[in-house]
This record gives sequence, structure tokens and C-alpha cells, in this order.
Amino acid sequence: MKTREPLQVLGRLYVPYANWVGETTSQFLCELRDKRRLRGTGCSECGKVFMPPRSVCPTCLASLETWVDLPTTGLLMTYTSVHYSFGREYQPMDPPYLLGIIRLDGADTGLCHFLGETSFEELRVGMKVEAVFKENREGNILDIAYFRPIKAAS
Ligand SMILES: [Zn+2]
Repeated sequence: MKTREPLQVLGRLYVPYANWVGETTSQFLCELRDKRRLRGTGCSECGKVFMPPRSVCPTCLASLETWVDLPTTGLLMTYTSVHYSFGREYQPMDPPYLLGIIRLDGADTGLCHFLGETSFEELRVGMKVEAVFKENREGNILDIAYFRPIKAAS
């Protein structure tokens, strides 16, 4: 028997899982959790410093085994405001919230994270920001609560 038309049923799956993040990310997250330290990896071939850390340089394919201590400050490269909710199980917090790409001082790549203690109207590309850490850290990227603008001393 032939089907006249292919019908579909639309649904949504939520699948809890636990997945090893790998050696490099494990080391990064342990330093973040235990010492509030942000460490990237550096490439001995091209000199780039990656934050978040990578195990292989995407430019020259070199193995990245050198850890580079980075400060908790950096520049806001771009930002957006999230208002769309696609389910609490898929988003780390309920919208609305602010997201940015932050390039830590001394790094060549950006880290995507929340922006706090600010408003969309206050944000500017190139502004200085700093990490605010959670008091009780658990070993994931949300141990950084958010990045906030560094206010000029008055
Ligand atoms: Zn490289």
C-alpha cells in the first residue's frame, strides 16, 4: 500500500546527558572552579592565545600544550540582548538577558558569556569588562557569573 503524502509529527525531545569535556577543558574548568583563574592555551607555532582554551591550533594544527595565565579583564567585541525563550532546559537562564563575546586581555579569541550589572543601552563594542565569579563554583563555565563593565574611577 502506498502512502499518498508523507505526514509528520512535530515534537520536542529533552535528553539529559553527562559528557566528558576532554582533558583541556577539564583543566580549564578546574582552575576556574578552584582558583578563579582563567587560563588559555598558546600556540608555539603562530603565537595565538586561545580563550576558551583549545587542544589544537585551528590555524597551523599544532598541539597546544602551553597554558597561558590571563587576567579577568578584557574587551567586549560584540553583544546582543536575548528575549526569545526556547525552554528553560535549553537556556541557562530565562530571558531577557545580555550576551557578549569578550576577548580577555592577552588572548586572540573571544569567549561568549553573560553581561551583568549593565543595560543594553550602556554597552559599547570595545568597552572594558571584567569577570564576576560565582561564590559557589561547580566546575562549569557558569562559575563565571557574568562580565560587567569596568567603570572609570570618578
Ligand atoms: Zn598556531
